[in-house]
Amino acid sequence: MLPQWSWLLFLLALAASTIMFEERALPTVPAGSGVHLSPTEKARQYFRAEEIDRGRAYAGGRYILVSLRLAVTLGLFALLTFTTLAARIRDLSVSVAGGRVWLTIAVFGLLLGLLYSAANFPLSLYGSFLREHAFGLSTQTFRSWIWDYAKHALISTGMMLPLLIVLYALIRWNPHRWYLPAWLVIVAVMALMTELAPILIDPLFHTFRPVQDPALVERIRTLTDRAGLRTGSILEVDASRRTKKTNAYFTGLGGTRRVVLYDTLITTSTPEEVELVLAHELGHWRRHHIWKGIALGAASTLAALWLIARLLNVAAGSGRFGFIHPADVVSLPLMLLAFVALNVVTMPIQVGISRVFEREADLESLRLTGNPEAFIASEVKLARANLADIHPPKAIVWLMYTHPPVLERIAMAEAYSTKEIR
Ligand SMILES: [Zn+2]
Repeated sequence: MLPQWSWLLFLLALAASTIMFEERALPTVPAGSGVHLSPTEKARQYFRAEEIDRGRAYAGGRYILVSLRLAVTLGLFALLTFTTLAARIRDLSVSVAGGRVWLTIAVFGLLLGLLYSAANFPLSLYGSFLREHAFGLSTQTFRSWIWDYAKHALISTGMMLPLLIVLYALIRWNPHRWYLPAWLVIVAVMALMTELAPILIDPLFHTFRPVQDPALVERIRTLTDRAGLRTGSILEVDASRRTKKTNAYFTGLGGTRRVVLYDTLITTSTPEEVELVLAHELGHWRRHHIWKGIALGAASTLAALWLIARLLNVAAGSGRFGFIHPADVVSLPLMLLAFVALNVVTMPIQVGISRVFEREADLESLRLTGNPEAFIASEVKLARANLADIHPPKAIVWLMYTHPPVLERIAMAEAYSTKEIR
């Protein structure tokens, strides 16, 4: 048996080499290509001053909201970890469950979930309902929003509680090696959810139908043929019932893979622009980004579980956190605290990888369509509709941007049209 740390090193090396390979496989936009303009001048080439201000106002608040949500979540788990609150919730769970171990864990998990929702609800209400209305982006009634919220809560509870019961059964089985089978279970659930969510979960929130406009369907077919892809479905979703924002995404695995276009995208864009957005999604498909995402997720989950398993044993040994065995459910807040903290610390790596994938998909879309003008037009339109921050601070991009900022994406199309990249 290899020592535990060698697994971690192996997986980290694998992840690092994937990133390096991706970076090399990708032509970067030459520095100072094209006209020499400052970012502000560059922004003014495509956007009006009030659009830039409005984008910054909207996005600026979102940066604060994301940070606040993290602070509240970390604060809650820290409070539970470093006080006797978790032990009291455990005692309550034991008496409710009548001593049955699996039920104690389920009740504890449920109470923790309720606390989490209560702590984060004001931010959710403000961030995803009140503020969206204040900026004129939402078309959703409060009733519909709260119903969505309740459904999300029910679905995540229904999925998390069985996983939690299995997790603690594995910790009881082997307090040192539980992370290996737990990892297998989590990866299997992750892959299964990627496959099933488009047909089981998504229809609970939205209505999907094949793209209707026959001329657009014809264009789409030509494009997917040119891409050499056996396509799954190309669907439109009734996003306009909730928002004025526009988007498209690529989801599913195997038989459930599909490209979904917002109806708001189809009604506000020219066929050439829709084609560009679709070509970007096909680019993800061509570069196997879903599989790569699952592989990277699996590798980092194993590393995180290994670290958390070590941490739990050290914490149990110290006796300072209200539990002396890792399988005592009082250890859950510490586990969650470590997990969220690891997520925060590795966020720049995660979003950095995502930006590499997005750049690849952008380049594929340019190669597929050979139409940089429509690329730029659709980027400008998306940025306007979604109130994008036209010129976000570099540090914010590094910390939280899953996509390259709009001016960078436009620069790629400009470099493509002058044949600096192909
Ligand atoms: Zn993308």
